[in-house]
Amino acid sequence: MQAVAVFPSQKKLELVDVPQPELQGPNDVLLRVREVGLCGTDREISSFEYGSPPPGSDHLILGHESLAEAIEVGRAVRSLKPGDLAVAMVRRPCPHAECRPCRAGRSDFCVTGDFTERGIKGADGFLTDYVVDDESFLVKVPRALADVAVLVEPLTVVTKAVDQASAIFSRLPYDTGPQRGLALGAGPIGLLAAMVLVADGFDTVVYSRDAEDSKQADLVRSLGAHYASSTTHTLESLAQASGKFDVILEAVGFAPLMMGATQMLKRNGVLALTGVPPEAATAELNTGRALRNLVLRNEVVFGTVNAGRRDYLSAIQNLEQFLVLFPDSVRRLITHRGRLDEVPQMLTHKQGIKNVVEMSRAA
Ligand SMILES: [Zn+2]
Ligand SMILES: [Zn+2]
Repeated sequence: MQAVAVFPSQKKLELVDVPQPELQGPNDVLLRVREVGLCGTDREISSFEYGSPPPGSDHLILGHESLAEAIEVGRAVRSLKPGDLAVAMVRRPCPHAECRPCRAGRSDFCVTGDFTERGIKGADGFLTDYVVDDESFLVKVPRALADVAVLVEPLTVVTKAVDQASAIFSRLPYDTGPQRGLALGAGPIGLLAAMVLVADGFDTVVYSRDAEDSKQADLVRSLGAHYASSTTHTLESLAQASGKFDVILEAVGFAPLMMGATQMLKRNGVLALTGVPPEAATAELNTGRALRNLVLRNEVVFGTVNAGRRDYLSAIQNLEQFLVLFPDSVRRLITHRGRLDEVPQMLTHKQGIKNVVEMSRAA
């Protein structure tokens, strides 16, 4: 069967032939991959910025945003049967006994850094026809979500951030009531963040560099949210025009915007950072004012990466809710579906919002 793999030492990305995997243990599931979403992480790996092959291999099969169909299950598998749809979790626990998060099934909080990630770090991904995975890393998806379930994995970035923000809000001695939310960025994560905020009842603004008449801005308005373009508004003018925010979900990875966002919080507000800026990025900021605000206004700024099973389950619930609230908008996030042999082209020439590779269609 075919797969798309990067060869980091030779700096090449190509279609390769690999043997079809088979069930090894009683908890294994053989899956036929249906769809794989592409994102900035795949673009960075395919430009050799990071990503590492499995031990002993010279190549890494790409793809971490999966949707697959169970074909055959090991004798101990209980949660999936042939024909079921599933999304695979990306990160796998480190081997160290002392890593309490990994031992508790929350490798997204791994403290050693020796975790693996399918399609990213030390383990092959899903841009191929068949994969085998342990049941404990698979999350069943309802059939009704088939055409959008490839968005589950990117949505877990948002559901994990929201889960943590809720934990932080629970410290407050009052019901926070209807709140104001800001999503920074109008890529797939920013738009999914806007959908979660709207679905949760937030008065929602999305701020991004896309123009006011862009596809992205239209999609934001179709949710009942407001769109502000950085081509016409600075962050400060946005705060003056529309007020500050209780919750900010950042999904840009542009350091000056990430730092500037700390000035957009209301008292007791929470800023979740999910973008990953280049290490050399710098940003100018009045640090005295920023730190004073953090203290004197009870603000919380936190970073979040990866997700645990509960975040996948929340993402599935959210997608079900989106299909009731704004079904067309959620489907419009996927702007291009291509074939496996188009992946190199799709990685270098991104078009629209979310690009998805169509591997197989089930009956
Ligand atoms: Zn991704
Ligand atoms: Zn660990």
